[in-house]
Amino acid sequence: MKLTYLGTAAAEGIPGLFCQCKNCIRARELGGRNIRTRSQALVDDCLLIDFPPDTFLHTLYHGLDITKIKSCIVTHAHSDHLYAPDLEMRKVGFAILPKNAPTFTVYAARRGYEMICESLKESRVQPERVQAEEVIPGEVFEVEGFRVLPLPAKHAPKTTPVVFVVEKDGKRFGYFHDTSILPEESWVMLETLDGPMQLVSLDCTEGTMVEDSLGHMNLSQCIRTKERLLAIGAANEQTVFVLNHFSHNGENTLYDELLPYAEAAGFVVSYDGMTIKF
Ligand SMILES: [Zn+2]
Ligand SMILES: [Zn+2]
Ligand SMILES: [Zn+2]
Repeated sequence: MKLTYLGTAAAEGIPGLFCQCKNCIRARELGGRNIRTRSQALVDDCLLIDFPPDTFLHTLYHGLDITKIKSCIVTHAHSDHLYAPDLEMRKVGFAILPKNAPTFTVYAARRGYEMICESLKESRVQPERVQAEEVIPGEVFEVEGFRVLPLPAKHAPKTTPVVFVVEKDGKRFGYFHDTSILPEESWVMLETLDGPMQLVSLDCTEGTMVEDSLGHMNLSQCIRTKERLLAIGAANEQTVFVLNHFSHNGENTLYDELLPYAEAAGFVVSYDGMTIKF
């Protein structure tokens, strides 16, 4: 399997759209991997995870050929993960597509599903161009040959947040954004996986901040999550653990600053454009 990180920031991006904090000023100076767009990932070049406002940017700068993508799974209804108005760009008159072009289907739990339906209705998008499918937390669904398990997340409840375990041909990975340490009901489901995940992507929005986050995680919460995943056999020594989804309001969340802390704890730090094969 192959996971490509197209965007790796929280809602404001890094540097924040309107922000002049010291992290954002430094990010502008340093550039490179310290510049982060809103969260999105691509699995095996065919399954999108999340549909942020930077999707357009990802088609320009990270080789995302969205004209070839048929399916997108959405973690929750925050705008840095679901920017439904851009789905209008696929409607007749806005996008010219070959005859019999496949439908673009977006899978989301209740609130995201409702937002997509409202947006498609309002902008009169033809159903053969874009469809929404509702995902039920805890219920496996199949898409693009992947078996996807949406687990309840601990994050803004009104956004019906889920995280995903994605499986194919005996390989699996966890994409755990956005969430604090997962709720117990999700740990019960992780205990029943058929084998260890080869990659786990964890929410490290707050970087090295000492205080535990309620809706996201800091490095210490990521370490505790990693230890518990190893203890229950949902991960093993070969599993690659990735830190992802960073905020300028966190501590040491710039790539260059977080790297030594992350490496010491056995984590890879994501950056826009990073691809991992496993
Ligand atoms: Zn987010
Ligand atoms: Zn800032
Ligand atoms: Zn969120």
